[in-house]
Amino acid sequence: MYIYNFKVDICLLLELILNLPLRIFEGFIKEYNMEFNLSAVSFLSEKNFLSIEEAKVYDVVIIGGGPAGLTAAVYCMRKGVSTAIIIKDIGGQVADTAAVENYLGYKYINGVELVEKFKEQVQQFSIAYEEGRSVVSLSDDDIKKVVLDNGKVVQGKTVIIASGKTWRKLNVPGEDRLVGRGVAYCAICDAPLFAGKIAIVAGGGNSGIEAALDLAAIASKVVVVQNLENLTADKILIEKLSKFTNVEYVFKSHVLEIEGDEKVTGVVVENIQTKEKTSIVADGIFISIGLDPNSDFVKGVVDMNRFNEINTDSFCRTSVEGIFAAGDVTSVPFKQIIIAGGEGSKAALSACEYIMKKD
Ligand SMILES: Cc1cc2nc3c(=O)[nH]c(=O)nc-3n(C[C@H](O)[C@H](O)[C@H](O)COP(=O)(O)OP(=O)(O)OC[C@H]3O[C@@H](n4cnc5c(N)ncnc54)[C@H](O)[C@@H]3O)c2cc1C
Repeated sequence: MYIYNFKVDICLLLELILNLPLRIFEGFIKEYNMEFNLSAVSFLSEKNFLSIEEAKVYDVVIIGGGPAGLTAAVYCMRKGVSTAIIIKDIGGQVADTAAVENYLGYKYINGVELVEKFKEQVQQFSIAYEEGRSVVSLSDDDIKKVVLDNGKVVQGKTVIIASGKTWRKLNVPGEDRLVGRGVAYCAICDAPLFAGKIAIVAGGGNSGIEAALDLAAIASKVVVVQNLENLTADKILIEKLSKFTNVEYVFKSHVLEIEGDEKVTGVVVENIQTKEKTSIVADGIFISIGLDPNSDFVKGVVDMNRFNEINTDSFCRTSVEGIFAAGDVTSVPFKQIIIAGGEGSKAALSACEYIMKKD
């Protein structure tokens, strides 16, 4: 009882010490009708997201709610700049990941759980937030206009594009339903889950053969399904894969359907010439037919490379002043959560520095 009361007293004391100056400060701000972003000083208390105001010009508008965008949001709010974030699907690719084992601080974490932790960290700030909306265009004016798919226009002194990438899909029955339950896209990330199991790889290009190499070392059997009559990956990769005795190839065929109720149990492939259908028993399928950057809405506005990735310098600056980009949507090599997060923080610091020097 004594210990309990002592704890309560300490908590009350801390609450007073931490929040009293803040309340006085807030009163002062209200009294003098000053516009000031309190988020940077109020991050100890839980705040709800604010809705985005069309009439306001935000210091930073962030596009995307994957690791790059959410990290940028945390950095901007801690810097005390007014920030709006527009997110199509919270978490981005991380939300599709069964297990993350290479993000520091967690030996193992489920992708959805990690997204929850990211969101929780952003939610402590009173950030202007819109989820479930896509950006459809962006202007390169001094004050940037970010147009959403419902016609809403969000204005920003700077913009951080963190719209990531989307795996190219097969668009066959079973694919969406079984993502994370045998349907996988990222071999670097998910191959270890297939130790001793049978895995199909759809795609015979570089990403497909790299996936097959990761899998061949640990899976009991790997079946590469390629729509052409030969593999199109680099020779060195093909030679490496040929050394494994547990790899089979199915050429001139495409995947018609992914089978399974709770998890993948097999796939149906069809020979493109003969139209013959075959069922292959498997524990999972890696769809390795490439990734596309979500950069369509900014085509013709910023410079891109031949893969439609946004070109950035080491400060995450794009070819347009005031527009920054971070994460998988950029030309930065290696697409991983920790890299996207690091790039997001860099983009935020660059945007804040840009505003400070300009104002
Ligand atoms: C299945 C899978 C497993 C993976 N496993 C791992 C792993 O174990 N470890 C690891 O380090 N990496 C892994 N990766 C890679 C990692 O997830 C990515 O490198 C990382 O998520 C990139 O972060 P990002 O923020 O740049 O982009 P994304 O995660 O792609 O996020 C982009 C965000 O932008 C939003 N968006 C897109 N277009 C628009 C638009 N027009 N308007 C508004 N919002 C938009 C999206 O909805 C999303 O919120 C995996 C990827 C996949 C697909």
